[in-house]
Amino acid sequence: MPSPWGRERVSLSHGLHFTGGEPFLNFNLLLSAAQMAEELGIPSTFVETNCSWCVNDEVTRERLEQLRRAGLKGIMISVNPFYVEYIPFERTERCIRISLEVFGSNVMIYQMEFYRQFKRLGLQGKVPFERYLALAATVGGNIAVEMFLMGRAARALKPYYHSYPASAFFGEPCQPPFLRDWHNHFDNYGNFMPGFCGGISLGSWRELDRLLREGIDLNEHPVLRHLITEDIRALLDFARDYGYQESPQGYISKCDLCLDLRLHLVKHGNFPELSPLAFYEQMALDANS
Ligand code: SF4
Repeated sequence: MPSPWGRERVSLSHGLHFTGGEPFLNFNLLLSAAQMAEELGIPSTFVETNCSWCVNDEVTRERLEQLRRAGLKGIMISVNPFYVEYIPFERTERCIRISLEVFGSNVMIYQMEFYRQFKRLGLQGKVPFERYLALAATVGGNIAVEMFLMGRAARALKPYYHSYPASAFFGEPCQPPFLRDWHNHFDNYGNFMPGFCGGISLGSWRELDRLLREGIDLNEHPVLRHLITEDIRALLDFARDYGYQESPQGYISKCDLCLDLRLHLVKHGNFPELSPLAFYEQMALDANS
């Protein structure tokens, strides 16, 4: 579906976006994808980037212009304290400046509040998270941004949030992220991923028509059954049957608990909806590093 402003314009939850990982790591593939989308008449296409590749003006402009010529309509530029830990802020600023010249108003900065704050703080280069927190405290005032405490973010940010027992998250349904007809993700392993729920697959996008026509057999996918028809309590009880023990440290969000349950289940059973397995392998590696 095109953006509310038309097929030549972009907005976060319309059209088609190429995301990652980092799509510019395989620029030729990204370029081909943009060309294919244009040939197929898909509206409101944009790419999401962390700007790591914006090492100078020439490279940045050349790639953005190639994409625009291939039919890509716009770009979304990621700005938050977790990126600036690894990517010099100058690259982000360069990407924004040149993107505005190439794509005009089809440039989205996500999240603008962080961008404004970083400018106020005069950030330069890479900034470790602890240093960012110290700097942000000097200017005072919290900034209100949406934050998805799920996946690796839930793990990495645990020290900065209150933790709660699992029961604190009972009764919170997962339905909106799961069964919605907007802003879903399709990964390069073939998974149709609900919303932002990394490591969960509703099925193969290679058989999307069949999936949409016939639906999901919930008897064959117990993790989905519990999350779709019940709540996180049901998944916790299910995981207990596989020997799961609640963490005495608690959880900072429902999605933090959900991930912990899935990490346990994936080790103790065969659940096709817990895919891609590489996601869980990487999470386990992160936990041990
Ligand atoms: S609890 Fe699990 S299924 Fe529900 S939104 Fe969070 S990650 Fe997705």
